[in-house]
Amino acid sequence: MKKTVTLNDKTFEVMIPAHEIDRAVAAVAERLNADYGDKERPIFVGVLNGAFMFLSDLIKKIDFTCEISFVKLASYEGTCSTGNVECLLGLNNDIAGRHVIIVEDIVDTGRSIAHMYADLMRRNPASVEVCTLFFKPNSYREPLPIRYRALEIGNEFIVGYGLDYDQLGRNLKDIYVVTND
Ligand code: 5GP
Ligand code: MG
Ligand code: MG
Repeated sequence: MKKTVTLNDKTFEVMIPAHEIDRAVAAVAERLNADYGDKERPIFVGVLNGAFMFLSDLIKKIDFTCEISFVKLASYEGTCSTGNVECLLGLNNDIAGRHVIIVEDIVDTGRSIAHMYADLMRRNPASVEVCTLFFKPNSYREPLPIRYRALEIGNEFIVGYGLDYDQLGRNLKDIYVVTND
């Protein structure tokens, strides 16, 4: 019998237990330590709300001196030419000439991350890479390479470890998937 949880109208069952998430986070941290250890003051930029738990666990495994900041994506109408496009809120750090690592909970179609990447690139950083906890290769539609992917999944909808269903479930320490009943 798998552990289940009910959030609003849907029931979810455990798909990835906490110890497996921890292993994947450790593996991606090891790659970051190898790639950024010799860089001057890299900056991690976590995307709220979903990435809070991933960034918190990841950063404890990072052994180089770094900065940490957070942003939120807001949908703007009018100010961005194509209507509803996510714009960046809250990045006050000067990232010109800096190595930036965007930390995301999940990259699905890639639409959000592509907008964020373009926004950050306009501020003349030395480099921008994406580090995501989850990647959905079957739905990804963007040319931007996602260098750091802790875990890959299919098209299923997941919750837990920062990810929500209708703002619920972010506190769960395992990853859950919706059941088919
Ligand atoms: P994208 O712009 O890459 O299509 O979508 C990214 C956003 O969609 C994520 O930041 C997240 O808010 C939401 N999302 C996509 N797939 C899932 C999923 O399986 N579970 C949850 N909770 N959110 C998801
Ligand atoms: Mg996200
Ligand atoms: Mg959400």
